Amino acid sequence: MNNERIITEALEVLPGGVNSPVRAFKAVGGKPIALVKGRGAKVWDADGREYIDFLASWGPLILGHAHPKVVKAVEEEVWKGLSFGLTNPHEVRLAHLVVEMVPSVEKVRFVNSGTEATMSAVRLARGVTGRKYVVKFDGCYHGHYDSLLVSAGSGVATFGIPGTPGIPEEIAKLTLVVPFNNREAVEETFRRYGDDIACLIVEPVPGNMGVVPPEEGFLQFLREITREYGTLLIFDEVITGFRLAKGGAQELFGVEPDITCLGKVLGGGMPVGAYGGGKEIMSQVAPEGPVYQAGTLSGNPVAMVAGVQTLKELRDREPYEELDRKMERLSEGVAGLLKDKGIAHRINRVGSMMTLFFTDREVRDFASAKTSDTELFAKFFRKLLDNGVLIPPSQFEAWFVSTAHEERDIDEALERISRAVKEL
Ligand SMILES: *Cc1c(COP(=O)(O)O)cnc(C)c1O
Repeated sequence: MNNERIITEALEVLPGGVNSPVRAFKAVGGKPIALVKGRGAKVWDADGREYIDFLASWGPLILGHAHPKVVKAVEEEVWKGLSFGLTNPHEVRLAHLVVEMVPSVEKVRFVNSGTEATMSAVRLARGVTGRKYVVKFDGCYHGHYDSLLVSAGSGVATFGIPGTPGIPEEIAKLTLVVPFNNREAVEETFRRYGDDIACLIVEPVPGNMGVVPPEEGFLQFLREITREYGTLLIFDEVITGFRLAKGGAQELFGVEPDITCLGKVLGGGMPVGAYGGGKEIMSQVAPEGPVYQAGTLSGNPVAMVAGVQTLKELRDREPYEELDRKMERLSEGVAGLLKDKGIAHRINRVGSMMTLFFTDREVRDFASAKTSDTELFAKFFRKLLDNGVLIPPSQFEAWFVSTAHEERDIDEALERISRAVKEL
């Protein structure tokens, strides 16, 4: 089946032809593609066309596609059985790796997605504190859990889905939304609701309104004000965990949250999420404590071995400087091409994640992110695709590089992007 046939048949049986909205290319127009193969830094579609891949499955593939160690471990495990429903040794190995690598985590519970991780973390925070309000930032995405799908960047921003259809007002009302990088707004919210706020959840480096770095001292400020009010601080490190450093953004910025949410890189391409924290908080999770949370396939052995191999590789190889250099090379290259062409732009980059905004304003929160010319972005995306470069089909997402992107892949990508920019 070629792209056209797959997409046509998909539209008959899947809403929008997809299982996750941003895949439908609605924000960028043109025909969606179906991918059939990935190796290292590249993917191939059903028509046999090759792309240099900066989508990286939306973040998990920090070692590139089909990394030999990951694939081998999965292959061996598959023959031993796909699921047992009781504890298996690989859960324990992966948990030890998480505890070793992530500074604030002493105990961890595995789930099957980032959404489950944030949903469970919020329940735990409410259970532990006996409070009901949740504070989140405008443009931060924490999965599609009811309490967190309010002013949630990414897919929601891309489609302009207004507010929260399907989410009762009574539930949405318990979520307080403030602009990112805005201390006064946070202070004001805590002054008004402080004693009833169970948790503040934040992507320490947001990637879902596009990449927006936290301003100097902002994360420390969040640590202090939550401590002052007895509110739990949740870092949603589903993107940043194991990507910005071995221990994620909390290591990079030296700020430790009470609860950490993980996903994406953690599963090395398999569906894995997790939430973790200090022993005291995690002892409140069932069956040790009263806060219930469960999963038939949680800790699935095949998924766990993919995570184990991925984290071991990251721990032993520490590729973070190398990843940083590669992304710097790419971002500087792209900036140069756009400058030569006289196109106003802004690139936000932290380590191996970046976003290109078509605006002349500094992007420090969701409001400024939205000043980007999304029509120009859509055109840029399509030209890139035509020239064999895949980036996320949405303005409000991050591009990623992996250890599999060699310098020659970056140079080849810049060649292709240069052709695309000429055609703009
Ligand atoms: C992707 C993402 C999620 C949701 O993870 P899923 O596995 O898609 O449910 C949550 N938080 C952040 C920061 C994410 O980027």
